[in-house]
Amino acid sequence: MVLASGSDHKLAEFRRVFDGSRVRLLSPVDLGCQCDVEETGATFAENARLKAVAYARACRQWTLADDSGLEIDALDGAPGVRSSRFAGPTATDHDRNARVLELLAAISDERRTARYRCAIAIADPLGVVAFEFESTVEGLIGHAPRGEGGFGYDPLFIVGPGETTMAELPGVAKDVISHRGQGGRAARTYLERVFVSADS
Ligand code: IMP
Repeated sequence: MVLASGSDHKLAEFRRVFDGSRVRLLSPVDLGCQCDVEETGATFAENARLKAVAYARACRQWTLADDSGLEIDALDGAPGVRSSRFAGPTATDHDRNARVLELLAAISDERRTARYRCAIAIADPLGVVAFEFESTVEGLIGHAPRGEGGFGYDPLFIVGPGETTMAELPGVAKDVISHRGQGGRAARTYLERVFVSADS
């Protein structure tokens, strides 16, 4: 099936979660079916649905889409659905992290609470949404980036007690707790049920 994303990071994370499954995730590039989806939704769930439906129709395949991002309480939930566009259209991960640190400069440790949120939508080959799931992981925003793993805001996102950032965790350890890991496992369970019942 198709993973409706151009992000190699997301594809790698979902592929790890689907490791050993008979459900195989292909990128739109693998299938030669690109499509441009404007993420106009007001919520992660709406954007995940928009992507799942558009790619399912374009590729005529079962499609898994994820829309995800970081919500920082002291910024009233920003960057939120604008996580990938935060700090301007040409900004890099480094620029976005620098912007977050700048905005939180005067914010004390207790008020640096945040969460990653991931909405998943699965559409069938006709573009009908068949499954939806939303998951979160809670954390704190650190004072400086740390770690080389993951992507995006991971070097700032401190998980659990202690000081470890998401970017300091090995990939499989990130998957155990992450918003996308939880969503990916729920999607895998759903899809394996659909395809097994289609076979029998
Ligand atoms: P989307 O492709 O529109 O869903 O945007 C997702 C954006 O949210 C990414 O570009 C990152 O900036 C951020 N994001 C989502 N999930 C993660 C994660 O697991 N780690 C770090 N940043 C993430």
